[in-house]
Amino acid sequence: MVAGPAVLPDRVEVTGGSRLPRAAPVAGWSVRHDALAAANKGRDPSHKKRARLMDAQPSQTTADTASAVTHWVPEDQPLRVSDLAQRLLREYRAEGGTVHLAGCTLDELPVIRLPVVFGGRDVYRIFGSSDELGREVDDPLFYQLGLSRLVAADRPNTVSPREEGRLLARAAAAAADMGQGQPVGQADKIVWCKYARGKIQFTIGELVSQIPFGGWARTVAPPAYRCPASGQETFAVAATSDGRIVAAEQIGQCQQTGRRLPRCEMVRCAVTDQWVSRELTERCPVSGQMVLKQRLVPCPLCREPVSPQALDHGRCRGCRSLSAVCYDDQRIQPILAKYPLLSRWQWLRLAETETAFLVVAAGFFQRRLLVLDKQSLNIRYAARGNRGLSSWSAAASTDEPGFW
Ligand SMILES: [Zn+2]
Repeated sequence: MVAGPAVLPDRVEVTGGSRLPRAAPVAGWSVRHDALAAANKGRDPSHKKRARLMDAQPSQTTADTASAVTHWVPEDQPLRVSDLAQRLLREYRAEGGTVHLAGCTLDELPVIRLPVVFGGRDVYRIFGSSDELGREVDDPLFYQLGLSRLVAADRPNTVSPREEGRLLARAAAAAADMGQGQPVGQADKIVWCKYARGKIQFTIGELVSQIPFGGWARTVAPPAYRCPASGQETFAVAATSDGRIVAAEQIGQCQQTGRRLPRCEMVRCAVTDQWVSRELTERCPVSGQMVLKQRLVPCPLCREPVSPQALDHGRCRGCRSLSAVCYDDQRIQPILAKYPLLSRWQWLRLAETETAFLVVAAGFFQRRLLVLDKQSLNIRYAARGNRGLSSWSAAASTDEPGFW
């Protein structure tokens, strides 16, 4: 072991633990699980001294510290990534694909006991992880880590006596902070608890998606996959035709194209009753129904594309609702401001759809129809007609002579 840095690193990850031969190069105190698996292969399970806390004869440190610290491990924590993988991966299902661990590490973090001499209790603190550094172990975490059932172990062979001395010095500093009027004993026990980090990887054909996980190896739970389309959290995934991995429960099939899509991106066509991709549909501006674009029909009067179900006697529901409007109606005022020549006409009738205003201006002999975009009030369609006749003829422009 090379001499450690002058200051104890925040994160001391001793992958593989003390009971492994140093088969793999230790880079940054961490080796990957494949190296770990190789190191574990054929390993004698007797590496743990199968002695309970009460009758164990743990090894003592050779560190040049005054403390006679002993080393322990939780009795039932996973020893290998393969043990963890089995527990995590059985929760998942990938339709037509596979699920496996990607880049998983099992690190050993030191959890150090600081006896409170007269307080009648022991206090464990976690060291060696930047986010857990110095954290006091509360009751839930005590059981989560398995600290109630320990077996004696050797100091990890990747931790030098000097490194151990620094750990204990840091624990002593923490003890000075936590006294609160009660004497705190010297650290006398280090429990090496395995901490898992990695990613769950879903592979379906050429598609890959990963979710990170992390936690104490004894209890780390498989994280749910959050469907990017629906936001649903799930343990079953499937691929869409456009190359996304989504919740399997969300998968549907467009009855027009046969493509697999999330259900949240499909709608039922009000005309054909088919479930289809939302992109293939449009909202009928008078009925509000979602309809396949090719099933919309132009209203014979206003030419707006509408659902056939919104047509009756050759008129859409909008055109059938035309009614007389006064010049002081709030809806007609901005229209008159934009088209002041409308005020020349004796009578005005107005209707509106979700997207358009329909205006019919009539005099004693002539009448005109304007279909205006509801937002911009720009003219979408204009037509000329004669009073007493039901037919209309499209006007190329309202600028043509005699239109107004
Ligand atoms: Zn119409």
